[in-house]
Amino acid sequence: MADQQTASAEAQVNYKEKYGVTPSQADHATLLRMIEDHFQEGLKTLVEPFPETDREFAKILDNLRTMSADDLRKKLIESGWLLEPYGEDEMRCQECMYYLVHRRWCDLPELNLPAEPDWWCRLWRI
Ligand code: SF4
Repeated sequence: MADQQTASAEAQVNYKEKYGVTPSQADHATLLRMIEDHFQEGLKTLVEPFPETDREFAKILDNLRTMSADDLRKKLIESGWLLEPYGEDEMRCQECMYYLVHRRWCDLPELNLPAEPDWWCRLWRI
């Protein structure tokens, strides 16, 4: 727990140095930039395993609930976030039940982040 808090505090300092704000303080455009920068820096997320059952889905949500709004990098990893559609069916945020099209926002409470229509994460649902 102490380690988690330290890691979270370090991440906040880095965000603050780079963007002048932490993710919890950032506006829509800045959050988008933070997300895109993580991927430009080579971030790999847990795209697999895709949660096949409600139990597996709930487990990912449980993990996300332990993270604060400032744990942006960890949230992206755990949710299997991608900046492109996924799979043969080209699943993407645009068709996900949690996506607020007009706000360009993921309304899943455990994520609560801006998202582009062509992005995706493994919590995708219709
Ligand atoms: S849950 Fe995932 S796929 Fe659905 S809107 Fe949010 S980020 Fe996009």
